Amino acid sequence: MTSHVFPRNSKAPPPQVIRGEGVYLFDKDGKSYLNFGDAAVSCLGHGDARVTAAVKAQMDEVAFAHTGFFTSDPAERLADKLVSLAPGDLDRVYFVSGGSEAMEAAIKLARQYYLETGEPQRHKIVARRQSYHGNTLGALATGGNAWRRAQFAPILIDVSHVSPCYAYRGLSEGETDEAYVDRLIDELEAEFQSLGPETVMAFVAEPVVGATLGAVGPVGDYFARVREVCDRHGILLILDEVMCGMGRTGTLFACEQFGVSPDICAIAKGLGGGYQPIGATLCTKAIHDAILNGSGFFQHGHTYLGHPVACAAGLAVLERLVDDEVLARVTPSGTHFRQALRDRLGQHPHVGDIRGSGLFCGVELVADRETKAPWSPEARLHARIKAAAFSDGLICYPMGGTIDGKNGDHVLLAPPFIADHTQLDEAADILAGAIDRSIAQATG
Ligand code: PMP
Repeated sequence: MTSHVFPRNSKAPPPQVIRGEGVYLFDKDGKSYLNFGDAAVSCLGHGDARVTAAVKAQMDEVAFAHTGFFTSDPAERLADKLVSLAPGDLDRVYFVSGGSEAMEAAIKLARQYYLETGEPQRHKIVARRQSYHGNTLGALATGGNAWRRAQFAPILIDVSHVSPCYAYRGLSEGETDEAYVDRLIDELEAEFQSLGPETVMAFVAEPVVGATLGAVGPVGDYFARVREVCDRHGILLILDEVMCGMGRTGTLFACEQFGVSPDICAIAKGLGGGYQPIGATLCTKAIHDAILNGSGFFQHGHTYLGHPVACAAGLAVLERLVDDEVLARVTPSGTHFRQALRDRLGQHPHVGDIRGSGLFCGVELVADRETKAPWSPEARLHARIKAAAFSDGLICYPMGGTIDGKNGDHVLLAPPFIADHTQLDEAADILAGAIDRSIAQATG
């Protein structure tokens, strides 16, 4: 029978999911899947009683009221709690429905800030290659994933891209971390100079790169140095924590670990934990007040801003993470999981790097461990691994190497924070088997 639902990654319809419980999803045929790969959304797993109850209760009170007329208790409380936990001067919260929307708002806030503060010439964005900031046009243009951008290039705004901080492939032979960071900062400075720093409004980066590279964090004081250069030129720092935020790396905001706070920060995914679609853009009071005292309002908006049920879910998730201390599990569980992956794959001839922080882990695959040569895209290794792991009951998030050959296929793993050691070990076992089978298929 024809299905009218799309997208489809394959001609055959995928299994129908009918239930979620803890770290597992169940399909209609009764098969269970360890859900470690839904793009880092399900931080609390499935069926969390507190979150589900909060969503139901809010549905009974009021499901929707337009923010053109009303605020709501869950939106106010969630914003208060986020601000009380956010690093630096982040002080105001704009609630949207997901990550791309959060990034669009971030970009437009930066632009409007400079209009209000008398620097209308600032409109340029500098971001990094091998990054992903969303699929709407502004966010897609900002991202530096060549493959995702390629088809839409003619309709994207002009954004410059510099090198990411990606030690596994970026660090030259014999180069120290300090020298590598110096080199990246010089490149950033040179990019600002060539654009004219007084015309640049923002530098955008994921603190820990998710989808495009697979859990790649910075080296040394990279972000502190980035902050310094941005400040020197009056350029805003926008951090995209859509994937790596909300506790995924062990702290509520990943940037807390680098002692750096942005002017604007986008979060989503783990904010709603999958219980509702929600994202948020946080900004400093300085940015907010410049707009409030200027034209008076942020010239942006979506129908579902601050959706009460989505905010109720977000608040309950945050309470679980912080008040119930689920967040405290992330660092020790992540250490255990990476060790489990290293035990099984650390010596594998086609595994080049096992990395990440907290429960945000990446495994990069290589054709040759010595030369770090990536697999050819034709091998479609990532797609094979995804299918093999899925058939063995593990949902993981493999991605192909970039089309410029600058990185290999990788597997991103983002277990729910409630996963226990047995489940983490089981996932590592399944993944190791799936990688071996996929390589045998690709080479056989
Ligand atoms: N930024 C980052 C870092 C992401 O990982 C994603 C989603 N993978 C987005 C933005 C876009 O979020 P969404 O898919 O919710 O629009």
